[in-house]
Amino acid sequence: MSKQLDILAFGAHPDDVEIGMGGTISRFSKKGLKIGICDLTMAELSSNGTVDNRQIEAKQAASILGVSQRVQLSLPDRGLFLSESSIKEVVTVIREYKPQIVFVPYFEDRHPDHGNCARLVEEAVFSAGIRNFQDEGNNSAHRVRDLHYYMINGFHKPDFVVDISKEIKNKIDSLKAYKSQFDMAEGSTQTPLTNGYIDAVESRERLYGKEVGVMYAEGFKTKKPILLSEDLIGENV
Ligand SMILES: [Zn+2]
Repeated sequence: MSKQLDILAFGAHPDDVEIGMGGTISRFSKKGLKIGICDLTMAELSSNGTVDNRQIEAKQAASILGVSQRVQLSLPDRGLFLSESSIKEVVTVIREYKPQIVFVPYFEDRHPDHGNCARLVEEAVFSAGIRNFQDEGNNSAHRVRDLHYYMINGFHKPDFVVDISKEIKNKIDSLKAYKSQFDMAEGSTQTPLTNGYIDAVESRERLYGKEVGVMYAEGFKTKKPILLSEDLIGENV
């Protein structure tokens, strides 16, 4: 069976992609697109939860959203820099799954790992398309068609939004799967995530929705202008 994915979303830590674009993933997986998530680190420096526990939570979240493939790399948490070996690891993933569209965190974000994840994947997307660039795998070069940015902690004016009104429950459920991160269980450390974070994400998506007259939307940034389809006044995607 072909491993080829339509969409591959990268995050620095398991839960980043769900925060930024869980609704969009749920929506397009229901439409039959093959969607993957690749977490670059295992979030081993996280204040709460263990690496093993978070892996179980990540699998649950992926199944709620209909993700076809969750890829887990073990680049160092707080160590996402533009090293040759890190770029090669990401190139190997891109060439293996050959996504048409890649999503990464928007680089203006409180947590530096999120911006570093974006830079690292941008480099890898470029190198993956160069035939003579050697990585550790043996898959052929692959050119990604589009690269977009989802938002984790930030609230920025989006370049485009996706209506997730019917997906908000799935999105929230996928976040709640990360009990170790968002629940203030006994003995856990208070972090920005344990203090109403999911409610704040829901409110943000509501505001993005309001901008375009729907209940909930997820906002994205992009470098290239969006090319509208010929079906300009048909049903929105
Ligand atoms: Zn993160």
